Amino acid sequence: MIGIGFDIHRLTKGRPLILGGIRIKYPKGLVGHSDADALLHALIDAILGAVKSGDIGDLFPDTDPRYKGISSAILLHRTITLIRSRHKRFVVKGVDSIIFAQEPKLGKTKSRIKNNIARLMGIKPDKVNIKAKTMEGLGPIGNKKAIAALVLVDI
Ligand code: MG
Repeated sequence: MIGIGFDIHRLTKGRPLILGGIRIKYPKGLVGHSDADALLHALIDAILGAVKSGDIGDLFPDTDPRYKGISSAILLHRTITLIRSRHKRFVVKGVDSIIFAQEPKLGKTKSRIKNNIARLMGIKPDKVNIKAKTMEGLGPIGNKKAIAALVLVDI
């Protein structure tokens, strides 16, 4: 089963930048109710899509004070635990992803993100792929106002 997920968050000064559960050195971070980890949010939506179980907002409403400032790694863990309880044969065959960010350059960070996502999902790193793209300076991502992520999961 295949699922896709997409997410975008605005960048602002004074917030930590967290992508794939990894803290990345950058003067700005993503704005959101949780830690605003766009990559993990897209991953959660991709998993939910693969098992036809709605979206991240159904599971973790951004109006719920329990999720304010929460680590998205915890949300991912809760999602996987829930799906495992419903689908006995839940096996992740592969994760592919694209991070859309004009800055920072993610070339050296990609392998850290890959290893961390594999760890969080309890799978081998060779099942996870992370790609990073700039937007060639175009649009809000190109203007460094936002970072987005697209994830495809094969379960
Ligand atoms: Mg989000």
